[in-house]
Amino acid sequence: MKINRLTVLTSLVLTGVLSIAVSAAQQAGRAAGPLGGTPSVDNLQVQKLTDNLYVLGGGGGNTAAFITSTGVVLVDTKVSGWGPSIIEKLKTLTPKPVTTIINTHTHFDHVNGNAEFPTTVDIVTSENTKKLMEDWHAVYGVTTFDTSTPFKANGGRGLPKHTFKERMTLGSGADEVDLFFHGPAHTGGDTWVVFKTARVMHAGDAFAGKNAPIMDMNNGGSAIHYAETLAKAAQTPNIDRVITGHSTVMTMADLKEFGEFNADFVRDAQAAKKAGKTVDQFVAGWSVPAKYKGYTTPAPDARGQWKSNAEVVWAGK
Ligand SMILES: [Zn+2]
Repeated sequence: MKINRLTVLTSLVLTGVLSIAVSAAQQAGRAAGPLGGTPSVDNLQVQKLTDNLYVLGGGGGNTAAFITSTGVVLVDTKVSGWGPSIIEKLKTLTPKPVTTIINTHTHFDHVNGNAEFPTTVDIVTSENTKKLMEDWHAVYGVTTFDTSTPFKANGGRGLPKHTFKERMTLGSGADEVDLFFHGPAHTGGDTWVVFKTARVMHAGDAFAGKNAPIMDMNNGGSAIHYAETLAKAAQTPNIDRVITGHSTVMTMADLKEFGEFNADFVRDAQAAKKAGKTVDQFVAGWSVPAKYKGYTTPAPDARGQWKSNAEVVWAGK
């Protein structure tokens, strides 16, 4: 049990990868505590990518802060309670106010902070994500964290004000931010945010780093389409660095490889299903192909995320 607890802590602290932490915590049979720790300015880690683009780690998903000529464009706002800490932290980077929030997808650890920003802030998501935020379904396979929504209790405050179907451009010149929906993967509304001048893309949880993603079929996520959606995103031109949902900043080559990793997993799961195997038989027998350097095969008793993803394949989603 001690090893399990260590696994949980190490995963959260070192990589912050939700899926691993959830799997290990579920396996250990206990809650891993609030995602990202206690809200405070000191618990937000700032990583500078360019003179006006930062990543704020901690408190849930990675937040991007893009300082434009007129104000700050934020991507993702973490779990409930972190909004005020984000605002305080931004004051150490710029005197400009937050003018726009973009949410990469509907999950609690990326959108719940929305409700804690001034109502004057514009909020932009894909059309599908807006609907998912309004409907609100639990994350498939995740039971450890409090995944409830703050929007209903706040009279809808924090819900998107503007949406797009496949593509939208915000700002122009040095301030240009391009939003893309390439199809379902982690959820049915995953948005890819491109900071054009910085040559940086925020992938949200669609890109889980060198790990199994969550394929959230409760919220439109898809095993069948996951890899093709990633392949489209990996073709985005003029990108040097990719911000992941919870992991480190990576490259387009890493994103392409992650797509191939998921294609392999899903293809093998589909073959096992066709051969009459059960989810458990497939999950017990699958290991990460050696060509995926830095990816690790979890211990047999810690394959909860793989099992959830295999279930999505078995469900035909
Ligand atoms: Zn997510």
